[in-house]
Amino acid sequence: MDRITISDLEVFAFHGVLKEENSLGQKFLISAELYMDVSEAAKDDDITKSINYADVCKDIDMFLKNNTFKLIETMADRLARHLLISYKILNEVCVKVKKPWAPILMTLDTVSVSVSRKWHHVYLSLGSNMGDMEDNINKAIRLLDKEEDCQVNRVSTLRVTKPVGPVEQNDFLNGALYMNTLKTPQELLALIGSIEKELKRVRDIHWGPRTIDLDILLYDDEIIQTTNLTIPHIEMDKRLFVLEPMTELAPWLRHPVLGMTMREMTNLRLGLED
Ligand code: AMP
Repeated sequence: MDRITISDLEVFAFHGVLKEENSLGQKFLISAELYMDVSEAAKDDDITKSINYADVCKDIDMFLKNNTFKLIETMADRLARHLLISYKILNEVCVKVKKPWAPILMTLDTVSVSVSRKWHHVYLSLGSNMGDMEDNINKAIRLLDKEEDCQVNRVSTLRVTKPVGPVEQNDFLNGALYMNTLKTPQELLALIGSIEKELKRVRDIHWGPRTIDLDILLYDDEIIQTTNLTIPHIEMDKRLFVLEPMTELAPWLRHPVLGMTMREMTNLRLGLED
């Protein structure tokens, strides 16, 4: 991917664990690799289609002067996120914060921290079978999109489906959405849990009725298996109420474990030839 690199921008700011660092300040050297597609800007020789590195340098200086962090880890993380949120053209950034005057009573060149942050491509499933189902789903989408590090890009058609499982209950309204996020999979799981809580999902009956059910279907092409999170979602290839909206959003997208496209998996479930 194309990139613009800023190297060792000097910023005088007040970060550090020691209170002297917060009052006296010190010099930091900031490097940033800004990943984006510059082909349009290059073709038209037009800066408005790229990123103005003078603006970015001023922005970095202001951000680090207007905020105070104890750790250079936090400085690098927050600065990377700030840049990705502020400049929509950026896909990914690597930020390095060097501290040449680290107060350790010894001589060193610099101590530094580097972080890489990027917009992740995520698909979520949406479901509700209590109350005003469409309203519940729309509220959940608004709550997701309200987060500055989440951007909901497309929502599938919502469709009425029959409940799956042993519990007798109302039909569901189901769909899926495509979003970009800076959150990690665990942060995203925590967010959807808090949205489910806010919309008063009741978890008393397993497989039972719910005001809202949000699941992470896909997170980039990552394969994750931990005690509380399985991605791709473990049931996604078995559920038409997930596969059909996914096929509407991204028919060509391949399941990272099974290697089949969303359309192929849907057709397989429906018993259709591809
Ligand atoms: P459910 O009742 O179907 O919404 O399941 C919620 C539980 O499943 C949560 O406690 C999660 O920790 C766990 N879980 C595992 N994988 C996923 C996933 N991909 N998306 C959402 N929840 C998941």
